[in-house]
Amino acid sequence: MTSIYAVYGAGGYGREVIPLLRDRIRDGASLYFVVDDNIPNQTVNGHSVISYDEFCQFPADEKYFTVAIADSDIRSRIFTRCRDAGFKPYSLSANNVVIMDNVTLGDGAILSPFSCLTSNIRIGVCFHANLYSYVGHDCQIGDFVTLAPGVKCNGNVVIEDHAYIGAGAIIKPGTRDNPTIIGRGAKIGMGAVVIQNVPAGAQVFGNPARSFAMAKS
Ligand code: UDP
Repeated sequence: MTSIYAVYGAGGYGREVIPLLRDRIRDGASLYFVVDDNIPNQTVNGHSVISYDEFCQFPADEKYFTVAIADSDIRSRIFTRCRDAGFKPYSLSANNVVIMDNVTLGDGAILSPFSCLTSNIRIGVCFHANLYSYVGHDCQIGDFVTLAPGVKCNGNVVIEDHAYIGAGAIIKPGTRDNPTIIGRGAKIGMGAVVIQNVPAGAQVFGNPARSFAMAKS
């Protein structure tokens, strides 16, 4: 049985993710970066970079992929294309990740070193928890959500699909009856302190976090 593992994306995050996988794949399996804008015969940090077409054509019994690209729209498009082509999404977590009780994690998650998911958490597909980020108890996180390094997502927070939480942002805990809600596709700037709900599609930053429109006036 031959297997190929792909890390889709050879940029900043892809290069932080491939070492996590290198330590784990079984003997005999091959490991590649896959990108859409491939330069022939390119290697990055010792790994060959191949195109999607090459990944499709390589002979192997099983092909696995994860998408290590922060942009959630690109991630979603690539995830859907690979899954629909019959490739298997895999989740990847660093050796020192802490996951407590009753955590449900969708396919294709990447949990970077020192990240932590505490208890009673539901997370959708293709989640990224970057270095030193955490998710507290009773959070519900949608699909294609990105936590940049050092995000503190406290308990009883809802983060809807495609939201991006910038480096070092802090999200105030909600309650079971009144969770703090980060709406679909919202972007939280680095270092923001989020103390109230953020509407879908909004971009907020600062302490307390405010929308760009309000901050300009
Ligand atoms: N990329 C791709 N298909 C796309 C867009 C990007 O394969 O439609 C790849 C691109 O070639 C690069 C990576 O994704 O290797 C993005 O790297 P970047 O450092 O810009 O972003 P990050 O790694 O921080 O998400």
